Amino acid sequence: MREVIIIGSGPAGFTAGIYTARAGLKPLLIASSVEIGGELMKTTEVENFPGFPDGLQGPELMANFQAQAERFGTEILYEDVVEVDLEGDIKIVKTGSGQTFEAKTVILATGAAYRELGLPREKELSGHGVSWCATCDGFFFREKTIAVVGGGDSAMEEATFLTRFASKVFLIHRRDTFKASKIMQDRAINNPKIEVIYNSEVTELKGEKNLDGVTLRNTVDGSTSHLDLDGLFIAVGNDPRVWLVENQVELTAEKFIQVEGRSSKTSLPGVFACGDVIDPTYRQAITAAGSGCVAALDAEHYLTNH
Ligand code: NAP
Repeated sequence: MREVIIIGSGPAGFTAGIYTARAGLKPLLIASSVEIGGELMKTTEVENFPGFPDGLQGPELMANFQAQAERFGTEILYEDVVEVDLEGDIKIVKTGSGQTFEAKTVILATGAAYRELGLPREKELSGHGVSWCATCDGFFFREKTIAVVGGGDSAMEEATFLTRFASKVFLIHRRDTFKASKIMQDRAINNPKIEVIYNSEVTELKGEKNLDGVTLRNTVDGSTSHLDLDGLFIAVGNDPRVWLVENQVELTAEKFIQVEGRSSKTSLPGVFACGDVIDPTYRQAITAAGSGCVAALDAEHYLTNH
């Protein structure tokens, strides 16, 4: 029987690993089989993580998180959790390879998954001109014309990054003001390769095997137009990953895991949650890491009292 199982390997999960390992709880961190490291693995330069005044690459930051968690004895399993039973005193966690683990406490740090536009052919054209990851796919669009959809920090970051490769980057946003932070907006808007298309949404993806254009609908007057494109990057936010636990722990109206006050306590004793899966508001690497620490301390207190 484990003291602690942590599900998820972003800043929240690894921070929970660092703290519970240092508390001598020998945590098992189940990192997933493919998306190890979470959303920062898809990011380029991280400039706002305190302690790194010169910035560093997202994957490098996550490698540091992992090395620090492992240094204190966090055991990392590169598998997907496929089923959990969290209701009893003994928590059951099953992985894709058929392994079953038991634990006294579970820390849920499953993060959030990228949002789709919900258009027909979106999945079919994924990897054929439609992408959610500039860091992964930007290289394929050298000297091409591409577009980024979205108005948040992710869209600004992706558009700016993609100017390294593309000859032209349209930034398509459904309103006339951005949600993104001022510094990120300014960087994108002032980039000579970026042209903003305000008040517009993509309504159709065109192209046989590969995307070759999109239909845009003006959100003010309803008119439609065609835009020739070699690639479309979708950066319209994320949804919390709760499918594993949605029938067991209480969720908020927005489908985040509900936690008690400033703690990480879920509706089930011995089950704690942290990071993007509980956070509809801030969703930063540093806030996720902070909440991973809270979950580790809450789990530690629970184990002491039980
Ligand atoms: P976000 O802040 O939720 O922004 C999503 C954007 O996509 C919004 O502008 C939204 O439009 C638009 N959108 C949503 N659904 C859409 C749809 N179906 N069609 C068209 N547009 C749609 O998400 P995010 O940009 O991914 O950022 C998530 C969090 O990560 C934020 O807290 C952000 O600050 C953080 N982040 C930080 C950095 C950084 O600091 N370096 C980098 C990336 C992300 P509306 O504005 O009209 O709602």
